[in-house]
Amino acid sequence: MNTTNILVVEDEASIAEVVSLYLKRAGYNVQIASDGKQAMNIFERQMPDFVILDLMLPEVDGLSLTRWLRDRSDVPIIMLTARREEIDRIAGLEMGADDYVVKPFSPQELVSRVRAVMRRLGREQVEAGSERSLSFDNLSIDPLSRVVTVKENPVELTAKEFDMLHLLARHPKQVFTREQLLERVWGGAQYIDPGTVTVHVRRLREKIEDEPSKPVRLLTVWGVGYKFEP
Ligand code: CA
Repeated sequence: MNTTNILVVEDEASIAEVVSLYLKRAGYNVQIASDGKQAMNIFERQMPDFVILDLMLPEVDGLSLTRWLRDRSDVPIIMLTARREEIDRIAGLEMGADDYVVKPFSPQELVSRVRAVMRRLGREQVEAGSERSLSFDNLSIDPLSRVVTVKENPVELTAKEFDMLHLLARHPKQVFTREQLLERVWGGAQYIDPGTVTVHVRRLREKIEDEPSKPVRLLTVWGVGYKFEP
């Protein structure tokens, strides 16, 4: 739950493996998708914290995938490109990719770029085992002590309430569907009633909102899911 999950989208298995190895050594969780379709499936189910994608992909190409991702989230994206793909690289950056590396690249350089992007976006993971606390007006969330305060008063949350609030707050403004929340907070949607999410959101609002019936933090996006307003 505390580790950054990175999705690597690359059809060349040897590159994907080396990249994955270096990222894992640097303390990240890594998943590999070997084409654009698979990447979309994984993204919808697991909402990775970071995406590294090759522009030359079978099924759905890297640019279309970048656009697809940007339509749905502000997940950081680094593109892997060939030197001759300059036009595509520029298009990718204009679509909102955060950075790129040109093949052939050193895996260590890619890791540094990932860190730099995370730092720039304020999402870097602090050293293993610790994690940055989050604070917003009148609300703070400390993942280490798992203490949440509202107007400086600690509030008691259950483990799942805490995990859900922390997940949403780490991705401000990003909409999560009920299924994604079940997957990320409960570790799987199969055996759990999706109504569970609704119940947890309601309880969280009672604990952290001034007026639970008119929430300003945990917002419902009708027909889609929920998001955190920072
Ligand atoms: Ca490729």
